[in-house]
Amino acid sequence: MTDYLFPPPATPSLPIRNSQQRFPIRRIFCVARNYLAHAQEMGMAVERDVPSYFTKSAQAYVASGATIPYPPGTSDFQHEMELVVCIGKAGFQIPEAQALSHVFGYACGLDMTRRDLQIKAREKKLPWDLGKDFENAAVLSEIAPASVIGHPATGKIELKLNGVVKQSSDISLMIHQIPAVIAHLSGFYHLQPGDLIFTGTPEGVGPVAVGDRIEGMIAGVGVIVLNIGAPA
Ligand code: MN
Repeated sequence: MTDYLFPPPATPSLPIRNSQQRFPIRRIFCVARNYLAHAQEMGMAVERDVPSYFTKSAQAYVASGATIPYPPGTSDFQHEMELVVCIGKAGFQIPEAQALSHVFGYACGLDMTRRDLQIKAREKKLPWDLGKDFENAAVLSEIAPASVIGHPATGKIELKLNGVVKQSSDISLMIHQIPAVIAHLSGFYHLQPGDLIFTGTPEGVGPVAVGDRIEGMIAGVGVIVLNIGAPA
């Protein structure tokens, strides 16, 4: 037994549909600006040649259905509804044609964002971490295994805020499709089982407030729920 100074943190993990097993989270990669209409609403040019990324800590995970405290340091906490790819097989420099064989399954994700801090950092050409990587900022549903649902490349992606549709698009509108993202990302990282890839949000992002309820869905994948509570 290792004599740790203090107990190491528990490994965050996702439930798997119709399974007792859990999927331990290793790393969380997030594709930036992967839908043209979202890039436009953010006032940004689109990188059409290659995807760009930021990351979140696995410790930022919170399960669908949770009530999270409105986070500190922001007055513009926003929702981003995304399809999440769950890597199940290690790979490096993966050819696009083999990319989907590395996918265990898919989940619904909310890339929760302190937009004011992200934009302030962006304007100063500083890192985005305070805007993107913080407690409860990576909300995830259960995983739908690809062995059951296949590999969705088309289908509705939607987010409702207090019952009102705010984001509605189709995952086929991703600028960089999933095989291309896996092929590109695996040129820079040795992808490992447990790695997650948030694939970007469509247009319609916006602020949430204390007492709000978010309900998201992706056709053929699943649903996700998040409640916003009072600051901790
Ligand atoms: Mn995002």
